[in-house]
Amino acid sequence: MRSANRIRDDFIDFFKSKNHEFVPSSPIVPIGDDTLLFANAGMNQFKDIFLGLTLSEYPRVANSQKCLRVSGKHNDLEEVGKDTYHHTFFEMLGNWSFNDYFKAEAIQWAWELLTDVWNIEPDRLWATFFAGDESDGLPKDEEAQKLWTKVTPIPAERVLAFGKKDNFWEMGEVGPCGPCSEIHIDLGPDSCDMKNVPNHKCSINGGCARFIELWNLVFIQFNRQSNGRLVPLSANYVDTGAGLERIVAVLQNKKSNYDTDLFMPVIDSVSEITSHKYTSRLKNKTDNAFRVIADHIRSLVFSITDGATPSNEGRGYVIRRILRRACRFGRELGMHEPFLYRLVPVVVDFMGDAFIEIKQRADYVSTVIEAEEASFGRTLDRGIDIFNAAAKRAAKTTDKTISGEDAFGLYDTYGFPVDLTMLMAEERNLKVDKAEFDRLMEQQRQRARAAQKDTSLMTALTDVELPVTEDLHKYHTDSCDSKIIALIDSNGFKDKGHIQADTEVGVVLDRTCFYAEAGGQVGDCGVIESDQGRFIVEDTVKIANCIIHRGHLAEGTLGVGDNVKAAVSRDRNSIKKNHTATHLLQWALQQVCGKTAAQQGSLVCPDYLRFDFTWPKALNNQQIKEVEKLVRDKIAADLPVTWTVMPRKEAEKLGAMALFGEKYGSEVRVVAIGTDSDKELNQAFSREFCGGTHVEKLGFIGGFKIIKEESISAGVRRITALTGQALAEYLEQRSNIADELSAILKVPAEELIDRVTRLIKDNKKLTKDLKSASKSSASDVMTEAKKLLETSEKIGATSVIVSRLSTTSIEQARNAADMLKKKAKSAVVVFGFADDGKAALLAAVTEDLIKKGLKAGDIIKQIAPIVGGGGGGRPHLAQAGGKNPEKIDDALAKAFELIKKNLVNIQ
Ligand code: ATP
Ligand code: MG
Repeated sequence: MRSANRIRDDFIDFFKSKNHEFVPSSPIVPIGDDTLLFANAGMNQFKDIFLGLTLSEYPRVANSQKCLRVSGKHNDLEEVGKDTYHHTFFEMLGNWSFNDYFKAEAIQWAWELLTDVWNIEPDRLWATFFAGDESDGLPKDEEAQKLWTKVTPIPAERVLAFGKKDNFWEMGEVGPCGPCSEIHIDLGPDSCDMKNVPNHKCSINGGCARFIELWNLVFIQFNRQSNGRLVPLSANYVDTGAGLERIVAVLQNKKSNYDTDLFMPVIDSVSEITSHKYTSRLKNKTDNAFRVIADHIRSLVFSITDGATPSNEGRGYVIRRILRRACRFGRELGMHEPFLYRLVPVVVDFMGDAFIEIKQRADYVSTVIEAEEASFGRTLDRGIDIFNAAAKRAAKTTDKTISGEDAFGLYDTYGFPVDLTMLMAEERNLKVDKAEFDRLMEQQRQRARAAQKDTSLMTALTDVELPVTEDLHKYHTDSCDSKIIALIDSNGFKDKGHIQADTEVGVVLDRTCFYAEAGGQVGDCGVIESDQGRFIVEDTVKIANCIIHRGHLAEGTLGVGDNVKAAVSRDRNSIKKNHTATHLLQWALQQVCGKTAAQQGSLVCPDYLRFDFTWPKALNNQQIKEVEKLVRDKIAADLPVTWTVMPRKEAEKLGAMALFGEKYGSEVRVVAIGTDSDKELNQAFSREFCGGTHVEKLGFIGGFKIIKEESISAGVRRITALTGQALAEYLEQRSNIADELSAILKVPAEELIDRVTRLIKDNKKLTKDLKSASKSSASDVMTEAKKLLETSEKIGATSVIVSRLSTTSIEQARNAADMLKKKAKSAVVVFGFADDGKAALLAAVTEDLIKKGLKAGDIIKQIAPIVGGGGGGRPHLAQAGGKNPEKIDDALAKAFELIKKNLVNIQ
């Protein structure tokens, strides 16, 4: 049997033999493309090439792309488990031509690979082509239709025409698009899963599982404009996609993708962990749970590896949903404890050679999954109860629908993704009011958005071609002469006019020395000024290749066309120190913790630096000290820092560290520490891909200290550190604290620790002594109370104990009263005592007397005014406080009188 790994290699090797260059899959989390949550097709990473924005490095490329179809235009989440061939995560094998070969070769090679290399019987294959579309003025793709029978032996009757829905592929509302040809396979009449549907006839694109699409060949020929019109592109492109899992199932002769070696190892593991058996039946609940889990764990491993983390927003929420869905299905197999994380090594084992990144981050991924499972597990059981209650209510409604509020409450409080609620509802033949849920979600989002800072300046910028700013000066100088060429305000982009006072404006210059926020380094602040006016820059950002200086006019007037001087604030020096120190920190962490400690994010600003990295638990004190020492030694050695731009391949060969998952162009800037020659980067001990500003000599950093180490999410730690001036100020503050403490405790600073340790020890001892002292006084009070009982007056069977008590604690008085009640069986107790200049009274009555109408609360109510207070309580126990302790005896005398009268009446 040909393994999936071998089949993937077959594909790549085949296209290499046709002069294609292999390019690695882009990360599942697209970098720098906010229009897309997750990669959903092989072409995503080539989008800019099709749009004519960049040139391809190679005319022909091939790869296997990691895809996730769980959101947006492509969402197959609901299909998973219910059919045998739709997954959330799957690999899309693809070959591309960038204005090189076209339809003939694409068709011929696809056929050759399927039938010659993989030996699929040609009789089982069908092809489709685009039938044309009148509304778009598109003719039928006769070229493709003819080529099918010309370059392959397929008979004309197995080449079918389909309309826009199936055979005209579009990236989105706008952008590159074109007709496509698909290859489908006939899996035989037994595979049909719609046999019960009346009048069903198996056919290509007919909806049943007998004919399955294997490979889509897209011929990119047009650009869809925002007015809906199609404009022919100046070049022709081929963009193909074939689902690896489907091809593997065919070649391994399996009825279902889940029966192949891309899923069976996970399924076997689940079976081992849960002691349930997988029987590969489609309409079986247990089997379905197996499939969902096997599918979802692959999605989790790949997306978390590529930088997504479970959260409540955007990408993170999609990942959280997948994980919670998998947990929920785990319940079907009796799993109440975290178990998904135990499947991570299984996935890594059979896919880690093709995608080494999952090997490198396996521990991190397990940690994240386990933590998330554990936290969801805690709420799931409780959430299920709440769901059941909501379902009960829904069952009573006429339309059998769980209300939007219930679904939202489950989401908001118990973290139930709405699709989980819908799935559980479906199992009970209930619906969910999704529209109302969406409305409540939107309301919540709006509240969150309102709380965020206003970014209107930038949102006004869609659909404008921005000028390119020359900004290399940022690496050499802090000020430069330039000219204002445009302004941006909330109304959009202007290439003439003046800056309005009192409004936030973006200034665009022809050239600048300002650094725009990127790679974790904050944008520069500073001023832009001329003889006429002065503009304060509060932040600098970059959109495409245009640098935008955001801020406001402080004096005079400035406008487009003015010659100005742009000067970065002195913060630049602190930023440089912190940025180089961040590189040193990353290097030192890897010396101490190994390569598992990989950068997850960073923030370099004038006041401090922050570095997030993958690491399962808190660094201990010794590790922190070691890291600090490594960094400080390098700073003390005052080693040189250098940077250079070089081809990416060369930089990779040098082992320069790239930010995980980041997309780099063919030329990259490398910052190296430990050599002063950009020709001898191999001598450097730290080499990173980096576009930031750095010091030239390490000594300039002037010190380094970690001030905080914390967890920011499961498996990710955050270090905050200081350098230079900020560190000096921090140390000064600390030293002041020590001086003050010395003065208070009257010992020199060196003895502070000893002194405080002793004080704490003494304090502990005193507290202990005090406790035992009060214990002994408690027993004294009890003895006193017992004596009172012996000498008390009896009226009938009832002991009447009305007395002062030698205590200051209401608790002791209460305990004494309780004890007397128990001992005497029938008793009325009233105690009075003074505490800190105040009077306290307490009354207690046994149950038998309460029944007869004598209540502690009533006694207290009547005597409390005597001591100048008020109070009351329940029938068996009541207490009161008062301002006049000298009246306690009067109050007690009155109490005695009252009780006597009462008892005489009731006995
Ligand atoms: P289908 O109609 O079967 O959902 P599609 O038209 O959505 O497929 P394309 O967008 O053309 O598929 O993607 C190219 C190829 O990727 C398909 O021919 C198929 O082999 C594979 N593919 C698409 N979606 C999935 C999925 N959810 N799981 C596994 N493979 C898929
Ligand atoms: Mg689809």
